[in-house]
Amino acid sequence: MDLLIFWDSGAPEGLGLPVSRLIGDLFSLPARICPNLVILNGYVGSRCQTDARTVLDSLQIFRQRQGVADPILLVCGTDLFTEGVTSLFGLARPPSQVAVVSTARLENAFYGLPENEDELIDRLVKESAHEIGHLFSLGHCTDPECIMYAPLTLDDLDRKERRFCPDCRSILDDALSQMIL
Ligand SMILES: [Zn+2]
Ligand SMILES: [Zn+2]
Repeated sequence: MDLLIFWDSGAPEGLGLPVSRLIGDLFSLPARICPNLVILNGYVGSRCQTDARTVLDSLQIFRQRQGVADPILLVCGTDLFTEGVTSLFGLARPPSQVAVVSTARLENAFYGLPENEDELIDRLVKESAHEIGHLFSLGHCTDPECIMYAPLTLDDLDRKERRFCPDCRSILDDALSQMIL
């Protein structure tokens, strides 16, 4: 099994390689990066945001139609929301093995701060690994430094380490060994 990472044209260029390498390391799986093949529907003009559920619908249909066996993570640059949530970093749909993350609120520019590529890569890897963790049956964790901690703010995300806590690691390793067999 590979991790398939769709990189949308609206996501920052040039980060795909370092990000996919670091994600692959966290899961000990090959992470394949390719240009996004799915049209990003779900844009709501009145809120200048895209409905993450609609994006996941499109990803899910693509994955089924193309007979893709691997989990797919889509990295986009459009700001996301979902029902009852004004904004979010990412969303996963474990039964369909699809997830989406947005770089919109991971970039310093969103908060009026100077750009920093290293910080952006670090945040994107943590957020991506969090959503992929959900695809591999992990829930949220109470350890604020664990990747599976649910961050409400950018500070929460920055406080997390780029690792799974021992409890989440062990659940993940079990899930991975079952999926690979
Ligand atoms: Zn989560
Ligand atoms: Zn944990």
